[in-house]
Amino acid sequence: MDTETHQSGGTLRLVLLGPPGSGKGTQAKLLVDRFKIPQVSTGDMLRAAARAGTALGQEAKRSMDRGVLVPDATIVGLVRERLGEPDCSCGYILDGFPRTVAQAEALEKLGTPLDHVLSLEVPEDELVVRLAGRRTCRSCGAMYHVQFSPSRGDAVCDACGAPTYQRDDDREETVRRRLQVYTTETEPLVSFYQERGLLRRVPGTGTVAEIAQRVARALGV
Ligand code: AMP
Repeated sequence: MDTETHQSGGTLRLVLLGPPGSGKGTQAKLLVDRFKIPQVSTGDMLRAAARAGTALGQEAKRSMDRGVLVPDATIVGLVRERLGEPDCSCGYILDGFPRTVAQAEALEKLGTPLDHVLSLEVPEDELVVRLAGRRTCRSCGAMYHVQFSPSRGDAVCDACGAPTYQRDDDREETVRRRLQVYTTETEPLVSFYQERGLLRRVPGTGTVAEIAQRVARALGV
């Protein structure tokens, strides 16, 4: 796909909202290619910190493994720093942030208004199947599904050859907890952004290409 011109002022700031397993990461990567703006995934940032063994990473891993959220102040600090980096000056795709009303309010206070918030909607039963079968590349983060999109080799990433694995928090019990946390902590953001006239609902079932088309239509491109 060609690079597209962004909104007025040449920026595009986007939030992808949706429960775990709704396809935010997959759609974010397609949008990165299309608009040449970075994906800012707080989950990826926390997993990188955990791998690096930093104090923040170790603390975050404890929350992630239990399927509960990392404290707002920690996440907001991390995101504030990341959005201040030069590659975010033309916009960004927020994937997995904000996840609470307090985080959304903190984002507003940064003074960089959002252009769109897309809510990817998928029935809960399908989310459980998607997450429990999900495999992730240890090195590049590429995602596979044991049933729907297996890697060609056995537990090896097609893109970079590194091993794939099941994230600790993709095990069924933790998945159920994460979905509960989504309902109580994050779903209120749907009305938060609806009130601000920013929300577009996007059905998140079907093929990746079908969903990408709906995403494009919701963005008016
Ligand atoms: P994800 O990869 O987006 O599903 O995130 C994995 C885990 O990282 C979540 O279950 C949380 O424990 C933590 N996490 C990611 N983003 C946030 C956030 N915005 N606020 C709090 N915790 C987060």
